[in-house]
Amino acid sequence: MAFSDSMTVDLRSDTVTRPTPEMLQAMMRAKTGDDVFGEDPSVNELEAITAAMFGMEEALYCPTGTMSNQTAIRCHTQPGDEVICDKMAHVYMYEGGGIAANSGSQVRAIQGDHGRITARQVAECINPDDVHKARTSLVCLENTSNRGGGSRYDIGEIKKIRTLCDLNHLKLHLDGARLFNAMVAGNESPRQYGELFHTISICLNKGLGCPIGSVLLGPAAFIKRARRVRKVFGGGMRQAGFMAAAGIYALSHHVSRLAEDHWHAGLLAAAWAKKSFVEDILPVETNIVIFRLDPSYPAPELAARLRQGGVLAIAISTQEMRMVTHLDVNPAGVEHVIKVIDSL
Ligand SMILES: *Cc1c(COP(=O)(O)O)cnc(C)c1O
Repeated sequence: MAFSDSMTVDLRSDTVTRPTPEMLQAMMRAKTGDDVFGEDPSVNELEAITAAMFGMEEALYCPTGTMSNQTAIRCHTQPGDEVICDKMAHVYMYEGGGIAANSGSQVRAIQGDHGRITARQVAECINPDDVHKARTSLVCLENTSNRGGGSRYDIGEIKKIRTLCDLNHLKLHLDGARLFNAMVAGNESPRQYGELFHTISICLNKGLGCPIGSVLLGPAAFIKRARRVRKVFGGGMRQAGFMAAAGIYALSHHVSRLAEDHWHAGLLAAAWAKKSFVEDILPVETNIVIFRLDPSYPAPELAARLRQGGVLAIAISTQEMRMVTHLDVNPAGVEHVIKVIDSL
C-alpha cells in the first residue's frame, strides 16, 4: 500500500465525517415539508422507523444529541431534583451545565468503572423522602461511554438498575449517542434497549455518519411533552427532511459497518501498546482509543507531533490522548497512522 505524504487522517472524533455520495443522493431526493406543522414526510418516516426499531411508542427528531438529552432531562425532572449519573457522563460534563441551566436540577455524580455505574452504586445514591434532601427523580446511563473509552454496559447490570428504578419510582434515560457501536460490538438488538429504558437518545451524527441529527425515543405522552420542550429550546425545525433522509439512509447502510471501526481502533491500540512512553491504554471495546502517557511526555506535545505526520488526535487532558475511528477512516488511513506511530 502506498502512502501519500500529504495524507491527513482525522481521528479527533467520529463527528468529523462528511456525507457519502450515496447519502447526499438520498438527501437530495428527500420529500420535505414543514416539520413544526408535523408535515415533513421524511422526518415522520425517520421517527416512525426508529420508534419501531426500538419498540418504543414514539420518537422525536432533534438537531443534536445534546438537545435530545437535555429535553429528556427537562421532561423527567422538576427544579431542585437530583439526577444520578457517572462522574464522566456527557450529560454532566459536556453539555455546558445544561442540567442546571435548563432543568434547575442538580447532579449526584458517581465514580463508575470507565463511565459505567452499577445498581449497587445507584441504590446508595437514592435520597430518602426527607425535606432536607433533593428529590431523586432520574438515572442517566451512557452506552457506550465516551470518556470511558467507548466502554459498553453489561445488559444484565442495566436490568438491575431498571428494577431499582421501578422500585423507587425513578425514570431511566439512556444517552445512546454511540448505542449502535455498543449493539454491534455486543450483538444486541435495539428492542432489548427499548424494553429497559423509559427514554433513549441516539445520535445520527457520530458513527452513523450524518451531518447532524439525533432521535429521542419514549412513550407517546412523554414525546408530546418533549416536542414542546424542543420548541422552547429552539429546536423546532422546518424542512428538516433533508437531514432526516440522511438518517434514514444511515440506519440501513452504516450500522453493521461499525464493526470495521472497532477493528481499526484495536489495530491503533496495538500500535500504541508498543510505545515505551504509553503508560496505560483503556480497554478498547468499540471505536475509541484513550491512552495515558508517561508524565515526561505531555499529551499536547504528542498531538503536535502526530499532526506533523498528518494525524489528528485530541489531547483530552495533559496526560491523555484520544483517537476515534469512523466512516471516513479507511484501511489505508489506519495503515498510515500506524506508520506514524511506529516512527515516534
Ligand atoms: C456527542 C455526544 C452527545 C451529543 O452530542 P451532540 O454533538 O450534541 O450531538 C451526547 N452524548 C455523548 C456520549 C456524546 O458522545
